[in-house]
Amino acid sequence: MSDLNSTLTNMKKKYREIFKKSVDAIQSRIDELKPTKLNAEIFDNFAKDSIGYQWQQAVLDMFENDISHEIYRKWQEIISYRNNFECKGCATCCNLACSEFSPEELKQKADNGDKFAKQFTQIFIPYKNSNEPKKIYPEYLKLLSENVEGDVYFYHCPKLTECKRCSDYENRPDICKHFPDNPLDILPESCGFYNWRKEVEPVAMMLHAMVEIIDYYKEKIKEQM
Ligand code: SF4
Ligand code: SF4
Repeated sequence: MSDLNSTLTNMKKKYREIFKKSVDAIQSRIDELKPTKLNAEIFDNFAKDSIGYQWQQAVLDMFENDISHEIYRKWQEIISYRNNFECKGCATCCNLACSEFSPEELKQKADNGDKFAKQFTQIFIPYKNSNEPKKIYPEYLKLLSENVEGDVYFYHCPKLTECKRCSDYENRPDICKHFPDNPLDILPESCGFYNWRKEVEPVAMMLHAMVEIIDYYKEKIKEQM
């Protein structure tokens, strides 16, 4: 447990490194599509139907039809690989669910049709005060609050029994069945999926970085078209 904080500090640094490498990889794929005689940058303003304009269109097509599909496929592989790990029943996800949204905000989101917020508010109730969750898993709680920007709110499920068992396991909702479904979420070391997350983290970070970079390129190119 003692190295959790340094792990996260490394993760941030690691993400920055992966992000830079992903920018280079995407830029070289853009350059491969560049017409040989063209002396310009992808964010330049080109006349409609010029070779520069066609290049921008080819790049947007590559994002839509190649890279986005590659990202989706790799993400699905990561999620499937999760089946090699299993829940250890530590009950942290039942007892210490967290959200960037307050109970009032979650209720409002649920009322506005947000599916996740609806399920979340049907399962979890907020702790009465901030000291209660601190007693459960102080290291994990500290880690989350230090590394999630803005406020973090903690909730618990009333269906969890005193011996840390789900009293309605057969009917547990989808978000319980599929937890954890995001390899970039911070997991407690007690979680059976902790090693899954650790193994797939570099690829998941690269995919996340690629999505961010592609969105940026798409927006910038479209501004010029
Ligand atoms: S419904 Fe069961 S599995 Fe889901 S959070 Fe509650 S106790 Fe945990
Ligand atoms: S935190 Fe992980 S190991 Fe613990 S109950 Fe939830 S899914 Fe299972």
